[in-house]
Amino acid sequence: MALRQKSGSVVCRRCGLLVGVNDERCFHCGCRNPGLWGYAPIFRRLGQDLGFVPLVTGGCILLYLACLMADPGGIRMGNLFSLFSPSLRSLFLFGASGSVPVFSFGRWWTLLSAGWLHGGLLHILFNLLWVRQLAPATAELYGAGRMVIIYTVSSISGFLASSLAGFLLGPIPILGGASFTIGASAAIFGLLGSLVYSGRRGSSAVGRQALNYALVLFVFGFMMAGIDNWAHAGGFLGGYLTGKWMDPMRPERINHLIAALICVLLSGASIILSVLKGY
Ligand SMILES: [Zn+2]
Repeated sequence: MALRQKSGSVVCRRCGLLVGVNDERCFHCGCRNPGLWGYAPIFRRLGQDLGFVPLVTGGCILLYLACLMADPGGIRMGNLFSLFSPSLRSLFLFGASGSVPVFSFGRWWTLLSAGWLHGGLLHILFNLLWVRQLAPATAELYGAGRMVIIYTVSSISGFLASSLAGFLLGPIPILGGASFTIGASAAIFGLLGSLVYSGRRGSSAVGRQALNYALVLFVFGFMMAGIDNWAHAGGFLGGYLTGKWMDPMRPERINHLIAALICVLLSGASIILSVLKGY
């Protein structure tokens, strides 16, 4: 099968009915660019999110297992939320972020890697369930490429907020940031932020629902120890502003998909760099 189809009909990427490959809009469901520049047949096999959810799921599980195996003697069994928790040493090695790695060790790229690491069985389960729930919904409104960009940018902004707060305010309760921080929740709050923004541009039911989720999760974060509220707030703000910047009312362009691919490659590179520099 040719990589790109240049003429004839394809099935619309959203509704699955036949459209011309070069049509600007699907005349059945109204979605823009239904043929995805002729790449729809390839993309369709990957699903609405272009395979990003399986990538995050597989990547996070593999890295979680790698963190456990790198230092099996250091596995902790604290409270329920940190059951089967990798040691701080192996989390540092694989790219945990926070004021200590970023400011004391100059590991700035951990702003990107930390979102792929988790500190316990429930932590990873909880986050992956939220990614499965929110990433396809965000891809539906923004397109898969822009969803990946939102996910990546908000993860960075969340860990930047947390590391800066940890550096400037220290580990004081409630106001302080984190000396070490990990997890996909900054990106999850970013997806929620972008969904809230899309609510202001028409998808108001989705926006309200996302705002409710964000508020409940944010309040929940204050009631539990060890939750990085700065990462949540920074991620939400990053997702909201990235959503605004990319405007869900404008169609996704192929540049967005290229940028998304770069986001994924840089994320992988940040983890490899963490491990190489950590030894
Ligand atoms: Zn359609």
